[in-house]
Amino acid sequence: MTFSRATLLTIMALGLCSASAVASETKVHWSYSGEEGPQQWGNLSAEYATCGTGQMQSPVDLGDIDATGSIKLAAVYKPVPLVILNNGHTIQFNTDGAGMLSEAGIAYDLLQVHFHAPSEHVIKGEPAPLEAHFVHRSADGALSVIGVFIVEGAANPALATLIAHLPTKVTPATPIKGATIDPNDLLPADMAMYRYMGSLTTPPCSEGVNWHVLSTSVTASKEQIAKLSAALHMNARPVQPLHDRLLVAPAQ
Ligand SMILES: [Zn+2]
Repeated sequence: MTFSRATLLTIMALGLCSASAVASETKVHWSYSGEEGPQQWGNLSAEYATCGTGQMQSPVDLGDIDATGSIKLAAVYKPVPLVILNNGHTIQFNTDGAGMLSEAGIAYDLLQVHFHAPSEHVIKGEPAPLEAHFVHRSADGALSVIGVFIVEGAANPALATLIAHLPTKVTPATPIKGATIDPNDLLPADMAMYRYMGSLTTPPCSEGVNWHVLSTSVTASKEQIAKLSAALHMNARPVQPLHDRLLVAPAQ
C-alpha cells in the first residue's frame, strides 16, 4: 500500500487545513462537528470520498473481536529533541530519528506522535480520556500505527514535557530549545495488542493502515488529562463498521 504525496503531507502534518496550507495542496476544510463533521467528510471533497465509502475505516470498537492471537511487534525508540505543532486538528510531536517498529520483517520509521480526546478506539462502547497515535511509515510508504489509551493515574513524564510547551492555537512545527521527549514514556511495559487493518482516522481516510492498539493503558494525572483535552477540544472520529475485517485481540 502506498500513499499519494498529498496524503503523506497530511500524515506528516506539514500542511495545515487553513489558508496557510502548503500552496500547491488544495485542502478542503473539515472538522469534528457540524456541517464539516465526520458524517459529512466523504461529501466535502472527491479526495475525501473514502471517508464515506471505505469498507476498512478506523477507528473501530475493539470489543467486537473474532479471534485472539499473540502479535509480535518490536518497537525501539529513543528520546528526541522536542518539535511540537498544533495543526488545528491535533497536537503532535515529530520524531525524526526516534526509532522504528518492525513487524513481519518490515521496518517502519516513527514519524510523529499525536493525540485524540477522548480516545477514538473504544472497548464495548467505552472510550478512554485520551489516545496517543504513534505513526510509522516503511520505506515503500506503508503505514503502521500504534494506539495507546491514556487513563487517569500517575503523572506521565512525556506529557509533562508536552504540556509545558503546549501550543493551544494552530502553530507550525516548532523546535523547543533544550527540551527532549521520550516516546517510550507513552508505552506500557506490556505490549499485548489488538490488530486489524484500517485507515487514517482523518480525511482523506486512506485505507491500508496497519493498526495496533495496546490493551494496557498508560496513565496521566487528572490535571494533565484536563489540560491536553482542553487544548485538543473534541477530536475523536466516531467508530466505524468492521464489515468483514479480522480483528485480533490479545490472548488472555
Ligand atoms: Zn490519530
